[in-house]
Order: sequence, then C-alpha cells, then structure tokens
Amino acid sequence: MSAAPGRPKQACTVGASVSAALQRRQILLGAAGLAAPAIVRAQGASARVVVVGGGFGGATVARYLRTWAPQLEVVLVEPAETFVTCPFSNHYLAGLRSWNSIGHGYDGLRAAGVRVVHARAEDVDGARRTLRLDSGQLLRWDRLVLSPGVDVRWGALEGYDRAAAERAPHAWKAGAQTRLLRRQLQAMPDGGRFVMVIPDNPFRCPPGPYERASLVAHYLKHHKPRSKLLLLDAKNNFSKKELFLQGWKALYGDMLEWVSLAQDGQVVRVDARMLEVETAFGERHRADVLNVIPPQKAGLIAERAGAIDASGWAPVRGEDLASQRVAGVHVLGDAAQAGPIPKSGFAANNQGKVVAAAIAAELSGQDPPEAWFANTCYSLLAPGYGISVVGVYRAHEGRLIDLPHSVGVSPLDAPAVQRAAEARQGADWYAAISADIWDR
Ligand SMILES: Cc1cc2nc3c(=O)[nH]c(=O)nc-3n(C[C@H](O)[C@H](O)[C@H](O)COP(=O)(O)OP(=O)(O)OC[C@H]3O[C@@H](n4cnc5c(N)ncnc54)[C@H](O)[C@@H]3O)c2cc1C
Repeated sequence: MSAAPGRPKQACTVGASVSAALQRRQILLGAAGLAAPAIVRAQGASARVVVVGGGFGGATVARYLRTWAPQLEVVLVEPAETFVTCPFSNHYLAGLRSWNSIGHGYDGLRAAGVRVVHARAEDVDGARRTLRLDSGQLLRWDRLVLSPGVDVRWGALEGYDRAAAERAPHAWKAGAQTRLLRRQLQAMPDGGRFVMVIPDNPFRCPPGPYERASLVAHYLKHHKPRSKLLLLDAKNNFSKKELFLQGWKALYGDMLEWVSLAQDGQVVRVDARMLEVETAFGERHRADVLNVIPPQKAGLIAERAGAIDASGWAPVRGEDLASQRVAGVHVLGDAAQAGPIPKSGFAANNQGKVVAAAIAAELSGQDPPEAWFANTCYSLLAPGYGISVVGVYRAHEGRLIDLPHSVGVSPLDAPAVQRAAEARQGADWYAAISADIWDR
C-alpha cells in the first residue's frame, strides 16, 4: 500500500489514505465472512496496546488505533488530565492567547474507546511485556508505544538544575514553567533586558526559540518599549534563519539582538541567583528575565525501557518507528531519533498515524502500509505575520530520509498579504490538529 506520494505537502493524506486502505481491507474481509483478521481474532479482546504519553504523538496513536483496529484494547497512560500544548504557548507568553485555549482534555479519546489512565509510567519490563505505573499497577502489553516527549539534561549546562529553573525558567514543556515566564515578563521593568539561551541541535521544535523571541519582542514593543532582547545561541544557523532575521529587522529594529556561536553566543554557565550567564569566551551578561532553553534528551521512560542509545534519543526503524533496541516497542515524536524529521507536534501527529497503521496491520497479520512522513512548522513573528517551513520524508532501508527538493520555506520579501495568510494558516493548523487528536 502506498500513501499518496504524489501529494507531498499534505501530511495528513498519509493518515487518510492508510485509513482508507485499512477500511477497504476490513470491508473485503467482512464480505468474505471473516469478521476479524486472524491474529486479532486469535487473541480476541486480549490484544492490548499500551501507549505512554497523551501528547501529540501518543494521543494520535491511541485515537487512530481505535479507529483502524477497534478489536484492540488501547490504554493511554498520561499523568495530566489536561494537556497543555507547547505550540501556541509562545502566543500565550505574549498575551495573544488565553491559557485555556491551549489546554485539551481526554474526554474525546475516552468517547473513541481509549482507556485513559491518569498515572505516570515508571518502568518497562521488555521481557515480561509489562509496564509499571506510579500507582503500583502493572499493565501487560502486546505492543508498547512510547511518546514521552523530552526531558531536560539537567547539569549539561553548568549551574542549570531544577532549582535554577525556578529562577530562570526554560518553559520548554508547557505548564507551570510557561506561566512563570509569563509572570516574569509582565513584572519586568520597562528598559529591562530579556536574555534567552538557545541550545545546539537536536532539540524540541527547531524554530520555537525564534518564534518565542519574536513574540516576546512584540510584547515588549507594545508594553515596555525601552527594553532589549538578547538571544545567545550555541549555533550559527537555525530554522528559517533568513526569514526571521528579515522579519526582526522590519518589526523590531535594534530591540532584538541575535548572537551566533561564532560571535560568542554559546553559554557555558548559568548563575540563576544573579540572573547572569557566561559565554565560552568568558563574557558575562546580566538579565532582568532569563529564559534558558537547555540541552534535552528523550523522556525518561524511554531510557528506563532501554530504548535510547548514547545520544540520549531512541533509535527507530524508519518503516514503522519500531525501537531498534527493544522488541515490541515503538518510539515516536520528540523522543525518537527520526533522522532529518524535526521534533515537532506536526511530525509527532504524522508519525502517530504511521505507528497506528503499522501496529493495526501487524496485529492483523498484514503487511504494514508504506510509510511517508511530512512536517510543516508555522511561526508567528507578530500578529498577522506568519512564515513556515515544509518537508517530506520517507523510510529507506530502515532509515528516514528527506525527499529531494521537498524541503521548502516561505519566500523572503513576500508581500504583507502572504505573511497574513500564513499567520491565518498557522492558527487553522492548530485548530485542525487539536481536533484531530483531542477535541472531538
Ligand atoms: C515553545 C514551543 C513551541 C512549539 N511550537 C510548535 C509548533 O508551532 N508546531 C509544532 O508542530 N510543534 C511545535 N512545538 C514542538 C511540539 O511541542 C513537540 O514536538 C511535540 O509536543 C512532540 O510530541 P510528543 O508526543 O513527542 O511529546 P509531547 O507532546 O510533549 O507529549 C509527551 C507526553 O508524555 C507524557 N509523559 C512523559 N513521561 C511520561 C511517563 N513516564 N508516563 C506517562 N506519561 C508521560 C507527558 O506528560 C506528555 O503529556 C513547540 C515546542 C515548544 C517548546
């Protein structure tokens, strides 16, 4: 089965055509008098898929497994009763969105037949195929899916530990940290300095820091116009760089300064008590608000499952995101080492459909559908000023590769009407993906 390779810019055609193919298969099986494919029937209701993480990747897998293989029991393990998205949390920081508008509950998934368990997964026993929860409950699984997102590499940046994050928030997992950074921004004096520390690749959401910088600058321009924003970056290049630099110049002038690695932008030490950072060449910068985006790794449960390697991320097979290290386990989203695919919510949702289709097919004794992946990341530089980057990817001999000529970005020097259209498309994307995963 092939999934719409001729229409590379529409990620969701992947899921849609897989769905149609599986449904066609089910109709044919039904017509032949086979109510359920062999393996699922043999295991009956006991074939159970446990999914850890109710964010972009995990909640997608859970929903689409119920859609494409309703015979399976699907258990979703997620501690939070409301999932707050990182996408659009930068808008919240700048006062452009309410907190509630970026939170999503799990009633829709329950209504779709997913058993949602609000608990934290503590440990995985790959040999016995069990998952232990912090409640003490032991869940047996036939397939385990891990989509735990990222964890901070505490200590990788000298001086940046959990206590430091309470003074100098990362706000790189949406929640209390995001609200803390918003309060600090609101309390910052006019004429103050907002300093952002940006890590080297790979990390969650490559354009995310630069969208945040844009929207913080927008907030400062309107509320504290004498303030400055300093970006200290451990890289020389970043996603949509030329577009951001052009937009910043036009929108914010010299209010915002980006310092690259070559210009001594790499921060090597954080003093959260003094709100001060030190760069590789020993320069010190004081901040009124200090936002440290630290180095990251796969969520801890992926490590406890034995699914990560020395890189801190989980190596996976491109065709179905099966772990290369633990049998019966799939890892997706930010936690996976997915080659050139960026760590984004869009990509995690897309990957979730690939994983659901692969598991549904495998547990039905069918070949998995051919996997295609896509990503689009929208960024807002100011209200009505949006830009984007698009890429299409596929599996090749176990690896993930990008399709030649498939990666594209918004044009430089585009007219305002195009920037406004992309701003609207970004908001529409957020509404559509929220409905696709949680809100229906
Ligand atoms: C500021 C910012 C802006 C962003 N903007 C965009 C954007 O505009 N577009 C875009 O596509 N992406 C964006 N992203 C990236 C996006 O948030 C991530 O790529 C996406 O959330 C990854 O999905 P995931 O399923 O891997 O992880 P998540 O969505 O983070 O989900 C992980 C879930 O796993 C749960 N979990 C973790 N450990 C356990 C455990 N042991 N037991 C049970 N549950 C557990 C967590 O509670 C969490 O709910 C942004 C990120 C940031 C930081």
